[in-house]
Amino acid sequence: MNLNPLKWKLHWQILAAILLAIIAGWASGEDGRTLGIHWFSIYDFVGRIFINALKMLIVPLIVSSIIVGIAGIAKSGRLGMLGVKTVGFYLMTTMLAVLMGLLLVNLVDPGLDSDGNPVRDVLALEAQEIDVRARVAEGSLSDLTELFVRMVPENIVDSAARMDMLGLIFFSLLFGFFMARSQHSAAETMYNFWEGVFEIMMKITALIMMFAPIGVFGLVAKVVAQTGFDAAQPLLIFAATTAAALLLHLFVTISALLKVFGRVSPIKMLKAMSPALLTAFSTASSMATLPVTLRCVRENVGVSQRTTSFVLPLGATVNMNGTALYECVAAMFIAQAYGLELTFGVQFIIVVTALVTSIGVAGVPAASMVAIGIILTAIGLPLEALGVLFVFDRLLDMMRTSINIYGDAVCAVIVARLEGEKDLLM
Ligand code: ASP
Repeated sequence: MNLNPLKWKLHWQILAAILLAIIAGWASGEDGRTLGIHWFSIYDFVGRIFINALKMLIVPLIVSSIIVGIAGIAKSGRLGMLGVKTVGFYLMTTMLAVLMGLLLVNLVDPGLDSDGNPVRDVLALEAQEIDVRARVAEGSLSDLTELFVRMVPENIVDSAARMDMLGLIFFSLLFGFFMARSQHSAAETMYNFWEGVFEIMMKITALIMMFAPIGVFGLVAKVVAQTGFDAAQPLLIFAATTAAALLLHLFVTISALLKVFGRVSPIKMLKAMSPALLTAFSTASSMATLPVTLRCVRENVGVSQRTTSFVLPLGATVNMNGTALYECVAAMFIAQAYGLELTFGVQFIIVVTALVTSIGVAGVPAASMVAIGIILTAIGLPLEALGVLFVFDRLLDMMRTSINIYGDAVCAVIVARLEGEKDLLM
């Protein structure tokens, strides 16, 4: 079924919706009314319904897909290998992303003016005493252990209700693993049950995606109506630096990995993933995009269900290339703006904390703000500085989320290749 009378492909419909939304949001602003109709409320209404519809699938989708994925792999006795390859590629691509961010932010210096002075006053950042060493130890360590504590939930129903993905993933991994090892006849029934849940979730995703152009229109028009386009110059340079680093990571780093290890053309891959990329762009949430990511990687790219159902749900939570890159650029920008001396030690703390916290960041809009807060604490800068990042956060969030899910998809292709899968993107 195609709701579009022009019979355009889905990604063209979504792209057209984004362009229309920019015009509509800009023209109406937050208060615009025509014949008493408040446009902003309409954008908000359709956008929220779309994003809720995607979110409603997340818990059953994550649980069923991980259980089925792990059980399948555990039965084939290759769990260890697949796990090592997946986590290895996730860490490698995230590290490369952070380094790309670090490189660009050091080249452009968005936090310094043309004379090389910190832009603290232009951004009206509070003057505060900077106490680097005192904060390093407490900040980074306690938050790191917190990550592990969150992984083991005390109440799985509570984790599901709060959409705490790390806990849900951990439980589902255990469930799938022991289901595969159980000799009881009920284990087979269980497997069929979870496989059925997964298939049904994918069908509902297909239905929701037919309404994507309308939902995307609402989400993007709302952002444009709210934020407009004004900002101070250093912030514009910061946003441009982030965008450039994200694009370089996309077109150079992961495209090269895809070509070399996945033996797939990056152009074809981008095309196959475009519905997911555009959904990530408009929802700014890797989690909400997960149903679409799964569908694209399975149906358009041709990666097996065995690989996708393990690699992608895990990736949507722990593998965030775009987020890690952004965290690094944002923290460096603020540190430069404060005039903090960016020694090797400070930059090292930023890189490591960005890498680790990106694993714990939830796949929801603006989630990296918390992580940037952790980094700022770790290098002894005041949290108030986060305020300036909000000006461009939504736009950059849209971009980094697209990179996040693309990174997951590329890892899925590479892992599939390393597992001997053929017929990818034929
Ligand atoms: N919005 C991002 C995501 O869902 C997370 C973040 O960077 O804020 O992937």
